[in-house]
Amino acid sequence: MKVSERFAESVGQQENDMKYAYFEGRIVPLEEAKISIRTHAFLYGTSLFEGIRAYWLPETRQMSIFRMKEHYERLLRNGKLFFLTPALSLQELCDITCDLLRKNRPNCDLYIRPTVYKADEVVKPSLDNSRNELCIWVRPFGAYLDLSKGLSVCVSTWRRSADNAIPSRAKAGGGYMNTALAVTDAHSMGFDDAIFLTAEGSVAEGSAMNLFILRDGKLVTPSKTEDILEGITRDTIITLARNELGIEVEERVIDRSELYYAEEAFFCGTGAQVAPITAIDNRPVGNGQVGPETQRIQKLYFDVVKNKLPKYQHWCTLVDIDTP
Ligand code: PMP
Repeated sequence: MKVSERFAESVGQQENDMKYAYFEGRIVPLEEAKISIRTHAFLYGTSLFEGIRAYWLPETRQMSIFRMKEHYERLLRNGKLFFLTPALSLQELCDITCDLLRKNRPNCDLYIRPTVYKADEVVKPSLDNSRNELCIWVRPFGAYLDLSKGLSVCVSTWRRSADNAIPSRAKAGGGYMNTALAVTDAHSMGFDDAIFLTAEGSVAEGSAMNLFILRDGKLVTPSKTEDILEGITRDTIITLARNELGIEVEERVIDRSELYYAEEAFFCGTGAQVAPITAIDNRPVGNGQVGPETQRIQKLYFDVVKNKLPKYQHWCTLVDIDTP
């Protein structure tokens, strides 16, 4: 079974359990959260979104929302660039999200998807002629990519959207057509996913994840000026590698050929979490097995997101869930 099919299966099972969404000012039943086919965001992709994970802690019946504040800070930063700022403060965004979780009463890991979008029915592709609205939905969420076996990926023939086209630094709805092209072609060639290069030909990121490689025992990841999303998981891993695992981290330009010299490689992201890569363009990464440093990072990451490390508990917002 392909990774994408496994993923669809894992998220599909409990999908109907989440009955409420936040939509244009209120928490409503999911079926009432609807936009018109004439909505600007639907016509032109004029939306910004976030993907946030919340982990279920069965012992305490709490959800641990991972780095929610940083996600909403990024949404607000991106909003300035695209004139897509919601009429809500950072605190309000966080409070609404916690309320939505309490209302849905989940007992499994969740994906939280806030979207700010141009909500008017205007036929004109500009950003200054429409009201900004916010919706948030949640759904059960398993592993987005295979986390144990190791992925076989390719370098995409599609280049990452350049900063002067659609800045990849922002999670802009329309920008994900770029992602979709790369992933679709990777799948059609039998790969699990794709790595983007920048227009200049240096390594950027995965289709919807950031990328790390291990070279000479150091973790290396493209710097923030390499047409990447400034990933929150990327930042988490840099912090944990440096402060907890004693691994040196370099943020720099990565040549394409360095991918084939890597001792280890992995993708990271809210959806992807820490997903090992064991082959790139049909060449084994290292010895073709999931690397030991990747395993150490993956284990620590899961402990941190599940609120197990006191030093990083400030990254986890705990929400008590009522027993149904
Ligand atoms: N790059 C892209 C293009 C993404 O869509 C994502 C997923 N949000 C990431 C990187 C990883 O970012 P984060 O760790 O903040 O989820």
